[in-house]
Amino acid sequence: MSTSASSFVTDLVCLSCGRRVPEGNVQTCGACGPEGILDVKYDYDRASTTLTRDSLSIRDRDLWLYAELLPVSPAAEKPPLHIGWTPVYAAPRLAKEVGARRVYLKDEGRNPTGSFKDRASAIAIMKAQEFGAATVACASTGNAASSLAGLAASVGLRSVIFLPEHAPVPKVTQLLVFGATVIKVRGTYEQAFDLCSAACERFGWYNRSSGTNPYCVEGKKTAGLEIAGQFGPSVPDWVVVSVGDGCTIGGIGKGLSEMYRMGFIQRMPRLLGVQAEGARPLVNAFESGSDLVPTAADTVADSIAVGKPRNWRRALAQIRGSGGSMVAVPDDDILDAIRITARLGGVFGEPAGVTGVAGLRKAIRSGIIAGDESVLVVITGNGLKDIDTARKAAGDPVSIAPDISSLEAELAERGVTFP
Ligand SMILES: *Cc1c(COP(=O)(O)O)cnc(C)c1O
Repeated sequence: MSTSASSFVTDLVCLSCGRRVPEGNVQTCGACGPEGILDVKYDYDRASTTLTRDSLSIRDRDLWLYAELLPVSPAAEKPPLHIGWTPVYAAPRLAKEVGARRVYLKDEGRNPTGSFKDRASAIAIMKAQEFGAATVACASTGNAASSLAGLAASVGLRSVIFLPEHAPVPKVTQLLVFGATVIKVRGTYEQAFDLCSAACERFGWYNRSSGTNPYCVEGKKTAGLEIAGQFGPSVPDWVVVSVGDGCTIGGIGKGLSEMYRMGFIQRMPRLLGVQAEGARPLVNAFESGSDLVPTAADTVADSIAVGKPRNWRRALAQIRGSGGSMVAVPDDDILDAIRITARLGGVFGEPAGVTGVAGLRKAIRSGIIAGDESVLVVITGNGLKDIDTARKAAGDPVSIAPDISSLEAELAERGVTFP
């Protein structure tokens, strides 16, 4: 079944050389190689005939809501899991703590496998089915893989995951629970990535590796479309996103731009991209104005420990186009963000999930974001994804003898008063 004919996609354009590529089973630009990230283009005029406020009001609220702006046929059968349309919470105590007028948290940890990556994997499995692949594969240190494994399981596709040696145990456990074929590669992430690409070519598997697949970013875009839908005219001044490969912020920026272009919002929020100090190649490129230079990647936030981001052009174009900015934060600030996001906002995020909160605080202190502006932070992954780091941030419980005087002594020790 070919579903592409009935979608609103026109073609793809290389973000590096501008070449146009027809829609189909492509990964990167043939002329530019892996550097040639492709961007999916749509017929917005045709899309706007059916994508209207009235038609939206009667559709299911999930990832598939803005069907005309996705690279899949609106009529194609979707996976059974609920993905997207994640909740947005006002966090007034967190706002006070960081010094912003208004802070909202969009909890992506509520997606079926606990991270933002489900948005991309949903599109990947649709494309795999469209292109007739029975197996999907990716190289990943964590969320992209667990997400692909979960979504593949939900529709009966096989998944093969290439892991570099170090990956957090909970994420690896997710893969195994979902029945993925998990291959640990003795080597770097780059080597796992290259092996995955070679295997997909050899065996005809569909490749969902982060950063290069042109359709995955269209799934990530849905968070941007949604932010416009959830806020409407009161869209926040800033949207803050943690950055690894750059697809998440690039996708969210694209989604917001499309909503602006189609008249659903009257102004574009500015994008703040946040990286960890130990893995800040995109911040360097943003500050210097030159092309990306790969760096080391050493941070507690494993999901953004990317030294050689693949989608840097898209990320920088979206951030600059929005009049936005970038900051880097040390690991200690990320640990602090785990605590304050949970204690003052009620949302438990993984390290990369709350890196945006650390970045928000830094951006306010350095005057990038003004104290009277409103900010949405995308909490990109659930805190249970990385328990070891959460414990570093929160400590361990102290045990006492089972009697009231021990309890009183312990409470006094902690300065807890009554009632
Ligand atoms: C992948 C990921 C990111 C960053 O997304 P990129 O597209 O790599 O920039 C941020 N947070 C979490 C939890 C992630 O899994």
